[in-house]
Order: sequence, then C-alpha cells, then structure tokens
Amino acid sequence: MSIPRVVIVGRPNVGKSSIFNWLDGRRLAIVDDRAGVTRDRMVTLIEHDDRYFELIDTGGMGHEDSDNLTKDVELQIAAGIDEADIVLLVVDTRAGLTPMDEMVGERLRKIEKPVLLLANKTDHPGLDNAALEFHRLGRGWLIPVSTLQNRNRQTLFDAILERLPDNAIEAGETDAPRMKLAIVGRRNVGKSTFVNTLAKAQRMIVSEVPGTTRDSVDVHFDLDGHRFVAIDTPGLRRNKSIRTDIDFYGLHRAQRSIRRADV
Ligand code: GDP
Repeated sequence: MSIPRVVIVGRPNVGKSSIFNWLDGRRLAIVDDRAGVTRDRMVTLIEHDDRYFELIDTGGMGHEDSDNLTKDVELQIAAGIDEADIVLLVVDTRAGLTPMDEMVGERLRKIEKPVLLLANKTDHPGLDNAALEFHRLGRGWLIPVSTLQNRNRQTLFDAILERLPDNAIEAGETDAPRMKLAIVGRRNVGKSTFVNTLAKAQRMIVSEVPGTTRDSVDVHFDLDGHRFVAIDTPGLRRNKSIRTDIDFYGLHRAQRSIRRADV
C-alpha cells in the first residue's frame, strides 16, 4: 500500500511553504515575501503519532510566472491535487478574502476529497473572528493557524490524521532509501530532464529558462526493486553571479543537498 498524501494549495504568498516547513519541523522549502518562488512540487515524509504521510508543497495558484512557466507550475499543482488524499487550502487572514482565493476555491469545488481550509497568519486570538470570513468560500473545514506564532499545530495534525485513509504502511516502505543521488551542475545542462527520466514522470519543470529549478527537490524512484532518491538542485553559479536572494537560497540548498547525498 502506498503512503497517503496531503497537498498544500492556495494563491501566492498565503504561507504555503511556511506551513510545509512548520509541519515538517525543518526549513526545507524557501519562504519569501515575493510571490511565485515555489515552482516544483516539494515532497517530504511526515511522521506524527506513529502515522505517516507525504506532505506536498505547490506553487501559488493563479500566479503569472515571470519566466512564462505559469502553465508548467499549474500542471505541477494539478498533479499534486490529483495524487493527494487530503487537500490543505491555505488563505491569509491578514489579507482577508481575495478574488484569487475565490478562484482557487472554485477550482477545488468539484474535488471529492477532504479539504481543510487553513486561515494562516491568524497570529493571535483577536484575529479568529476575521478568519471566519473564509466560510464564504464554502469549501473545507476551517482551522485558524499561524506558522509564525505556532498556533493550532496540534489541531491541524489531529484534523489531518482523522481524515487520512487508514491504509497501513507496509514494513519497509518508510525505510531509508538505498541511495541518495544529488544531481548537480551548472544551469541548463539537463539536470531536471535527467531526474524526470529516472522517475519516469514529469516530476520537475523543464524549460530553456536558466534557473528554472529554484529549490532542491527530492524525487523518489524505484530501480531493480530498490528505492532511491534523486535530489534535483538549482544550477550552480559563480559567486559573483549571485544577484538575488533566490540565487543565494538556491546555492545554499544545493550545497546542503550535496552534503546529504551518498553520491
Ligand atoms: P507561499 O507563497 O504561499 O508559499 O508563502 P510563504 O510561505 O513563502 O510566505 C509568504 C510570506 O508570509 C512570508 O513573508 C512569510 O514570512 C509570511 N508568513 C508565513 N506564515 C505567516 C504567519 O503565520 N503569520 C504572518 N504574519 N506571516 C506569515
């Protein structure tokens, strides 16, 4: 049996990557106050109260990508929703309900999966009333949370675990993979294409735009009956070419991936 999956979706900048890191307990995904940083699907295995699930972070729905990758990002989001057992729809209490949230709600309307509506950035109880506004989306069980103030993390875990399909995980399924391969090199040499070939799926966005991959992404695949992880990494650049925070995070994440890998 497979590991149940929980996908995080929402418009840009509501705190999806922050929730991903918060539930995992590590700083895995890049959190930034600019919209549209996350492009690929990030996956991490979560263990809580002896249960397991895969948590998937996605790019912002409805974001117009500056490198014309909007369609690719949307395909990754759709694949994430498709393979999920539970959807976490994230909104931002401080910003209030926006037309983009309504668009996201509309897109999830026909999905017959449990949806939890996370009103993130509900940083103190005084904002709980403001969070109620999101009931108007008419989708999902509303939970006010704050990654910044660590509010309602256990409530959220309880709500997720209650709704997980109870397919027990077979022994060995969460064992460490046989080998972790970090795929590194300069930008645009074909790292993501190579990873997709190993995974036999369009797991990573591939484009001619240098720097398409922004974060290190773990992609699991099976070969000859063994489990492996390929870690796709942002392309390495010379120090003097590092211009933006995204380049900086990318380099840092790639270096960490190299340390984490066996090969
Ligand atoms: P994403 O684009 O939806 O993945 O959003 P990010 O996780 O990158 O976060 C967007 C911004 O919201 C960042 O500046 C975060 O620091 C901020 N943020 C995330 N969670 C909270 C929260 O609980 N409260 C507040 N006030 N800000 C938050």
